[in-house]
Amino acid sequence: MATRSAVAAANLGFPRIGRGRELKSALERFWAGKSSAGELESTALGLRERHWQLQAAAKIGIVPSNDFSLYDHVLDAAALVGAVPERFRAERARGELATCFAMARGTPGAPAMEMTKWFDTNYHYIVPELDAPEALHLASDKPLREYREARALGIETRPVLLGPVSFVLLSRTAGNAESRARLAERVADVYAELIDRLAGAGAEWIQLDEPCLGLDLADQDRWIFPRAYDRVSGHARLAVATYFSDLRENLPLAMRLPIDALHLDLVRAPGQLARALDLAPSRMTLSLGVVNGRGVWRTDLGRALATVRDAVDRLGASRVQVAPSCSLLHVPIDRDIETSLPAALRERLAFATQKLDEVALLARAATDDNPMELLEHAAARRQQTSALPHDAPLTGARVLHRAEPIDRGMLVREAAFAERRRVQRERVPLPPLPTTTIGSLPQTAEVRRMRAALRRGHVTNREYEAFMRREIERGIRFQEEVGLDVLVHGEFERSDMVEYFAEQLEGFAFTEHGWVQSYGSRCVKPPLLHGDVSRPHPLTVAWSRYAQSLTTRPVKGMLTGPVTMLQWSFVRDDVAPALVATQVALALRDEVADLERAGIHVIQVDEPALREALPLRRDERAEYLQWATDAFRLATGGAHAETQIHTHMCYAEFGEILNAVVRMDADVLSLEAARSRTAATGVLEAQSYGRALGPGVYDVHSPRVPSVDEFAEHIRRALEIAGPEQVWVNPDCGLKTRSWSEVRAALANMVEAARVVRAELAAEGPPLVERRGTAA
Ligand code: GLN
Ligand code: ZN
Repeated sequence: MATRSAVAAANLGFPRIGRGRELKSALERFWAGKSSAGELESTALGLRERHWQLQAAAKIGIVPSNDFSLYDHVLDAAALVGAVPERFRAERARGELATCFAMARGTPGAPAMEMTKWFDTNYHYIVPELDAPEALHLASDKPLREYREARALGIETRPVLLGPVSFVLLSRTAGNAESRARLAERVADVYAELIDRLAGAGAEWIQLDEPCLGLDLADQDRWIFPRAYDRVSGHARLAVATYFSDLRENLPLAMRLPIDALHLDLVRAPGQLARALDLAPSRMTLSLGVVNGRGVWRTDLGRALATVRDAVDRLGASRVQVAPSCSLLHVPIDRDIETSLPAALRERLAFATQKLDEVALLARAATDDNPMELLEHAAARRQQTSALPHDAPLTGARVLHRAEPIDRGMLVREAAFAERRRVQRERVPLPPLPTTTIGSLPQTAEVRRMRAALRRGHVTNREYEAFMRREIERGIRFQEEVGLDVLVHGEFERSDMVEYFAEQLEGFAFTEHGWVQSYGSRCVKPPLLHGDVSRPHPLTVAWSRYAQSLTTRPVKGMLTGPVTMLQWSFVRDDVAPALVATQVALALRDEVADLERAGIHVIQVDEPALREALPLRRDERAEYLQWATDAFRLATGGAHAETQIHTHMCYAEFGEILNAVVRMDADVLSLEAARSRTAATGVLEAQSYGRALGPGVYDVHSPRVPSVDEFAEHIRRALEIAGPEQVWVNPDCGLKTRSWSEVRAALANMVEAARVVRAELAAEGPPLVERRGTAA
């Protein structure tokens, strides 16, 4: 056999939180003052060591370090270059740990830094605040420390840094592209100093993550890349990692950077490989992201291998690496600790640990004389643990059994908005500036305990139901006393707005330990959407009907929309998301009809994830928005004209999706506006929205109770932009994380403020009187 150089197996990042969410508990104990910094650090070190060893054991040749973070890697990058905003100056004396947590979580005197979603994921990063480049300096040795920790275990690692340009582009900066370029150059200088030290300690390679290379960039911003990379190159070998989208017009730019390797996401954007093979200069290695770092399904190894072997043919093995498409941060850690999933489903899953095996296997098979034998051998080993032949189709013949006969007429309400508004007013007469909430009421420890008790079989269904009914009744009485106009049942039965629906629909399954970091110590456990979705029985009707039976005021039914159901689950990858969304929408459509029959005339379908799922490339957005809005309309389009359909989204930046929101054709839209810096523009844009609109007036993420005056001011501001016809008064989002005492005080003030402003409007005279006439 000829000796050939091998293809390297690389990893870009490993989940930090731990199989048993050890980091979460350690962080929360530390924040609660129940443990010392030393204890926290030692848990963190234990996790890092375990994860390095696990990767080495999986035969990953290129293992990352500094991918770990106690809170967030973007926050770490800010701390690394000394980008600590003035207001946290006092914390700086207390050390790096205290400073980072103060920046992430705020202090009594300094509000936390802004947090936002990492590209199109549900992971949130802290938005760095950058001003003068001169202020940036090497302020931490975290990457060096962690590199040395791994080395002490005998594991050579490739330290990961957030690339200098993406770091700046993801930050809040003042000024123009030239000032961003100067910031990126300064960050690059700081990195160069750090890389020298890492190289001195033995590091041969550095990974710089530049996911912004996959975005539509302005020309001025594209030219920041060569300027920054000229300064950072020459100190160690550099691998630039891109992910989540196609580099397209930025590919030649990336190829001209003074770097030694480029990683491409070939799961999201397989098409870019052909051009990359053509353009790659001879010094450059290509890292092929062929194992999906965003999904939980096993890789089609035969297909992935064909891609890898093509690249090896073109470049030679020494210039090819196999890797996950992106950091494994976005998937759970280990499928093998899931014991309650059906074997046939479990067999189809690959979490982070299994993905590393896939990467290593592909790297080996890339230059093997008998690669198919290798793959088959691996498949046979897997099969021993499974009852089904590994080619058994995921769901069998029922695939899409109800998605075919959609006729577009089903998407259209029976009357246009103006006519609907008229009949809805007759059905449910409301004052101007009607008041309502977004759905959930405070979830007390008692409520959570009761749900857990039901899950564990410690209470009977009857006991559980009796408890929930008492909670609903208390919630209804509370809302009546406070004087809200449209009531909610309170969502006490829901631990999570997606999980609750997923649990009752066919087609979903649930892991026990499949946690994924969302922000800081917070994790989510997305359901697995693996089969045909259908609704075996009504989902929410009994609770809503009961709530409505207690009051003469309208009670709003509360559903989670199709896009949010998909975006916050791990969706099967063998069927287009649009088709899966159609199935979810059909289930919701039946639910809407049942709610109407149960006497519910106001129904809200939440779509807080609609914007998060927006494709990163502009020219892919129209297609997404088309199926996303079609799904919403399929869910709601069957509602009678007199049924008022609400939707809710947790953000005010509607710029790019405003037309889509209009196309959803909801009667009322509530959105976040109390805190958002862009609230004003959001509401402004909403001026062309035309429908009724509830810009949130109460920031549910803060324990502060606003005064009547503050609420009234918010309402008056909304009225500058939209007519009293149009404006609803409601909080930013659900109240489930707030306490009853806060909610009682805040909603009483909110309702009082609506009364105050109504009185002002009445005093203004005729227009309102006329409107009242038509509404009566
Ligand atoms: N109806 C949900 C609630 O009130 C909405 C949550 C959300 O938008 N994220 O909790
Ligand atoms: Zn919300």
